[in-house]
Amino acid sequence: MSKDFNIKTQLVHGFRGYDEKTGAVSFPIYQSATFRHPGLFESTGYDYSRTQNPTREELEDTIASLEKGFGALAFSSGMAAISNLLAMFKPGDHLIVSDDLYGGTYRLLEQVYKKYDITASYIDFTDLNNLKTSIRENTRAIFIESPSNPMMKVTDIRGAVAIAKERGLMIIVDNTFLSPYFQKPLELGADLVVHSGTKFLGGHDDTLAGFLVAKDKGLIEELRFLQNSIGAVLAPLDSWLILRGIKTLAIRMERQQENALKVANWLRAHKLVESVFYVGLSDHPGYKISKSQSTGFGSMISFSIKNPKKVKKILSSLKVITFAESLGGVKTLMTYPFHQTHADISEEIRNRLGVNEKLLRISVGIEDVDDIIEDLEQALL
Ligand SMILES: *Cc1c(COP(=O)(O)O)cnc(C)c1O
Repeated sequence: MSKDFNIKTQLVHGFRGYDEKTGAVSFPIYQSATFRHPGLFESTGYDYSRTQNPTREELEDTIASLEKGFGALAFSSGMAAISNLLAMFKPGDHLIVSDDLYGGTYRLLEQVYKKYDITASYIDFTDLNNLKTSIRENTRAIFIESPSNPMMKVTDIRGAVAIAKERGLMIIVDNTFLSPYFQKPLELGADLVVHSGTKFLGGHDDTLAGFLVAKDKGLIEELRFLQNSIGAVLAPLDSWLILRGIKTLAIRMERQQENALKVANWLRAHKLVESVFYVGLSDHPGYKISKSQSTGFGSMISFSIKNPKKVKKILSSLKVITFAESLGGVKTLMTYPFHQTHADISEEIRNRLGVNEKLLRISVGIEDVDDIIEDLEQALL
């Protein structure tokens, strides 16, 4: 669909949005591994589904147009997308990465790619001087999560881009927490966007998916070659499920954000709560930067409780909220980053970041907000 329409309209319609041959208004699931050639040296445009499949292509084109990229690639999970991206680097290359990073990305860097001598420095991007002083001779790329996970730190993306460009470094943004509905890093100058499509894009906690979106043709072609070579592609049915999820992204994100602000304010007033980390609170340190680069704050909240001994009781007494990993879906989920998503990060780093035994994280869903708050109230008793 034409890029001139409002994103709310684009989300509902997708890229082609329907099947041109039959008029089917739901883009078909092409559940076929291979495609018949009309004759020697002839192709319908599709040969083998690892290389390309029409349903995956519709999803990739939809994501590219939402993120304002030249092209997008769909993978079987967010980690598959990030691994595919890291396969672009060579032994000796160095990356600068958010210190407060999705645990799986940290594990992939430290326990997999380090073996191939691709190394990373973990820094706090809220002070861009840290970025300047961490750049080495062999630094190739900067990888930012903003807002970060789980401390909700906001990076000035335009500022980081300016430093990266001066030094000829690639700049990559993991946009999972805000989605293109609230933030478009490529428009802020980034070269590449990463997504766990499992989260907000899919939105229903039923499908794993991952994306890479590039601003220019050369980069997407290099990554497409790796996607086809490595083969961690998204299956046709899963591509369709994400396409269906995307149709309601706007209303889900609006409602989740509205609920999150109420939950954050409620938590802040609670006597057992020590601090609340939600970007949408006007005294959050990243509030102003967020306003200048994003159109929303999202629905991820972390909070610390005064007495960590209460964690076990809280998690086991939840009724509306589900104690589960993951985020971004219609259901409100709560996790304990210290023992779950961030368990692979060294205890020293976790403590420095504040990912400690007191910290809980909530992904606020679309349920009735009073029910969510009442559930917290009884769990925190
Ligand atoms: C979940 C997540 C990932 C990994 O994605 P999967 O789909 O779980 O493989 C990467 N980055 C962020 C910020 C995430 O939340």
